[in-house]
Amino acid sequence: MKTLVAGAGGFIGGHLVRKLESLGHDVIAVDIKNKEQWFTHPKNSSSYVADLRLLDNAIKYASGVEQIFNLACDMGGMGFIENNKAKCMESVLINTHLLQASKINSIKKYFFSSSACVYASFHQDSLSAKPLSESDAYPADPEDGYGWEKLFSERMCRHFDEDYGINTRVARYHNVYGPYGTYDGGREKVPAAACRKIIESINNGTYEIEIWGDGKQLRSFTYIDDCIDGTLNLMNSNFNSPLNIGSSEMISINELYQSIIEVKNLDINKFNFKYNLGAPQGVRGRSSNNDKCLEVLNWEPAVSFKTGISKTYDWILKEVNS
Ligand code: NAD
Repeated sequence: MKTLVAGAGGFIGGHLVRKLESLGHDVIAVDIKNKEQWFTHPKNSSSYVADLRLLDNAIKYASGVEQIFNLACDMGGMGFIENNKAKCMESVLINTHLLQASKINSIKKYFFSSSACVYASFHQDSLSAKPLSESDAYPADPEDGYGWEKLFSERMCRHFDEDYGINTRVARYHNVYGPYGTYDGGREKVPAAACRKIIESINNGTYEIEIWGDGKQLRSFTYIDDCIDGTLNLMNSNFNSPLNIGSSEMISINELYQSIIEVKNLDINKFNFKYNLGAPQGVRGRSSNNDKCLEVLNWEPAVSFKTGISKTYDWILKEVNS
């Protein structure tokens, strides 16, 4: 099957390309970044550098393909999305033009990578917040900027499905982490940032670590292998509404640091945690309710945080010390 992966030089897109290649797909891999900056390189697929916010490019790379996975987005962790709302919203052009390109090229299957950031903030404002079900996105009050872009793009998928017969699939990813992703530079998310901060504090001998907020905020983290399995399961299903792809294992940011230290056999007593209460920290409590995912896919993420973060730490350690 000929498949376009948009955002193929990124974290999830790169892993998806490798998986699709292993399944025998003929992949067209596209990303706006120079190829030296791609996290991974396709083994035997065609790869291109192009800006998919432009309709002409979207039409060109979608020509002759049977399905599209849209993993392309200008995004990052909480620090990035709180300070770059306009930039985040401009990614609406990528999804819009890839959907239009699907219509023009008569492509029948389309995947959009949405986010738990679409969920209304009033469902996530306490540590006792319930795990988020798909219906909790409405009435709408998503993360400003990034979350609104995702929610609008979800609806655009729905209407292209209803009006033009393109089978759209929408995953709401919850905090995906793993090797071959961003771990520094300001766009990294908390699991990768935590690994890097621990490694740097050991390397510079201070063992001092700054945590954003009071560390009690709750999240769930989804290992990349689960994210890719869920993405393919959803794409191969008949379900055309947004679906959570996320771990239901909820931990606090403090527990996240403790888990890394424990799983890597480090001495917790050596570390000195400082809390930056003025730093961006997002919602108070967020995790994934997987009832719908289990019902629709008969599947849910299975990799424990300790297993996934151990592999992630090893990769970041190699990168930082190389
Ligand atoms: P990433 O930043 O590693 O990958 C995104 C890629 O898109 C980057 O390589 C970037 O260069 C590319 N891109 C950006 N603008 C482009 C353009 N105009 N044309 C072509 N390519 C462009 O991010 P990721 O973690 O791999 O995320 C993939 C998708 O999943 C995104 O849509 C993201 O919003 C969504 N998502 C990710 C997470 C997560 O925790 N990683 C959580 C929720 C949703």
